[in-house]
Amino acid sequence: MFLTQLNPDQQESAIAALGSESFDVLVIGGGVNGVGAALDAASRGLKVALIESQDIAAGTSSRSSKLIHGGLRYLEQYDFRLVREALHERELLVSTLCPHLVKPVGFLFPLTEKFKERTYVGAGLALYDALRGFQRTLPWHKHLSQKQINEIAPSLRPDIIMGAIKYFDAQVDDARHTLSVARTAARHGAIIATRVSAESLIRNGKRVVGVKAKDLASGQTIAIKATVTVMCAGIWSDELHTKFDLKAGYNVTMSKGVHIVLPGSAIKSDAGIILKTPVSVLFIIPWADKWIVGTTDTPYTGDRAQPFASREDVQYILDQANRVLTPQLKIEEIIGVYAGLRPLVANNKSSVTTKLSREHTVDRPAPGFVSIAGGKYTTYRIMGKDVIDLAVNELRKITPESVTEKLPLIGADGYFALMQQIEAISSESGLDTDTTTHLLNRYGSMISEILVLIKETPALAKKLTADLPYITAEIYYAASHEGARTVDDVISRRTRIAFEAPNHGVDLADSIAQIIAPVLGWSAKEYKASVAAYESLVDRELASVNELLNESEKVNS
Ligand SMILES: Cc1cc2nc3c(=O)[nH]c(=O)nc-3n(C[C@H](O)[C@H](O)[C@H](O)COP(=O)(O)OP(=O)(O)OC[C@H]3O[C@@H](n4cnc5c(N)ncnc54)[C@H](O)[C@@H]3O)c2cc1C
Repeated sequence: MFLTQLNPDQQESAIAALGSESFDVLVIGGGVNGVGAALDAASRGLKVALIESQDIAAGTSSRSSKLIHGGLRYLEQYDFRLVREALHERELLVSTLCPHLVKPVGFLFPLTEKFKERTYVGAGLALYDALRGFQRTLPWHKHLSQKQINEIAPSLRPDIIMGAIKYFDAQVDDARHTLSVARTAARHGAIIATRVSAESLIRNGKRVVGVKAKDLASGQTIAIKATVTVMCAGIWSDELHTKFDLKAGYNVTMSKGVHIVLPGSAIKSDAGIILKTPVSVLFIIPWADKWIVGTTDTPYTGDRAQPFASREDVQYILDQANRVLTPQLKIEEIIGVYAGLRPLVANNKSSVTTKLSREHTVDRPAPGFVSIAGGKYTTYRIMGKDVIDLAVNELRKITPESVTEKLPLIGADGYFALMQQIEAISSESGLDTDTTTHLLNRYGSMISEILVLIKETPALAKKLTADLPYITAEIYYAASHEGARTVDDVISRRTRIAFEAPNHGVDLADSIAQIIAPVLGWSAKEYKASVAAYESLVDRELASVNELLNESEKVNS
């Protein structure tokens, strides 16, 4: 009945619906928590709309470490309930909700000392595994000797690494997953509109009865009527509370986390690596044929929409990784860099409306308005459920319980069977088996929509560029089915070219614009503006790395 396609026609009808219909639930924010809340509400049979002021996942939800994990650090804080809950979510995501997107990943916990550290870390990882229970998709942890480490991870310095313990977590392309949750919400009837910004609240006495929003493309103001407004604005929460003149029960401060991306050849290891650092941990995470290394944790007060890495951030990551790696990572090897902002929630102790539940907070600062912030990516489904559980009290009608625990995302159905049919799909479509596998791991059963495009226009089967796995059809599909509206949307979030290609893929911006321009109905001026906006973003994103490169060249000359 409902479509999952997000594109210009759907956006136009979404804008019309926002101004003319009344909703049970209006969600502000299209990060993972906002789309998770929209899916939770829509799948309970409620009438739902979601507005996002930028692109789906443009905030923190495309800038994480991309791990679906229980959080080893909570074990050190004895927060077993939190770890167990996150591990339950990990299992659900990997096995049922979206196995095409969430994959197991092995990590080595290197040991620098033979006995005491092994006993301590080993006990922690045994507990981590045990908290998941016996019904599990991911393997148990395993102790490795120094000899085994030399074979598995020759890049770990043999002079200081005495052994390691291998354990498993899971990883995800965060932006793609958030988009899949949004499209699943659309399939269940949610209206999704991007580049629509919530500007003020509509009130009836003390009760919030909707939102005045601005369609940023047309400049038009839209009055959206909703029985309950649900704010999932992450690091924008404080700013919006002030704008809406609401006294919230919590504050959200920001902490910046930076990652760098390196080629596979920079580190020789068959598994990821986790290192304890003086302030937190550093992950060295396999990402197809590359490595993502991070992260930092520093207070931040700058522009929320565009956080950038500083030269100190990049240098810190290199220094921490180089404590254990041989050969050392070099600044010249860095392919990409990205920065994200963690929403850190602090409860206002005098608040009577706030409930600090686990790592996140839900609040009802006014009748008809609820909000949620904090938490981590892994537990987005629980956060969506918690905030909608609170929101339904405002509806004054009997509403079913959340069903998202049993609701696979689009693309998940039949995924395991399709993975057994790679040869057949390849021979029928003419794609090579690597490309078919790549497509199945990004779209799951929605691969059929890509194959239809290729059948209609065989040229879309062509690779975008020799060094990356993406084909032209994926770029087209980003605009025709996945709501991409700019070159940046495609390069940074529908694909991850922004940190996978040299120079953040700026050399591909023009070819990408050519593919999406007809779908988006761009004029020559709009085409040029979108390419230019991406070029200017890349200049700022790469400034820190270029600064360090120049310094290193000066030293070496
Ligand atoms: C460096 C880093 C690493 C991390 N790694 C992990 C990890 O490995 N695993 C894990 O589980 N978690 C991780 N996290 C945490 C996780 O990424 C976040 O908790 C999660 O993405 C937050 O999602 P959100 O929806 O609350 O916020 P966001 O994704 O920021 O979404 C908020 C949205 O609200 C929109 N918005 C703002 N104002 C308005 C308005 N006026 N109108 C409409 N929309 C508006 C914004 O544009 C934005 O898209 C990490 C975080 C960081 C920063």
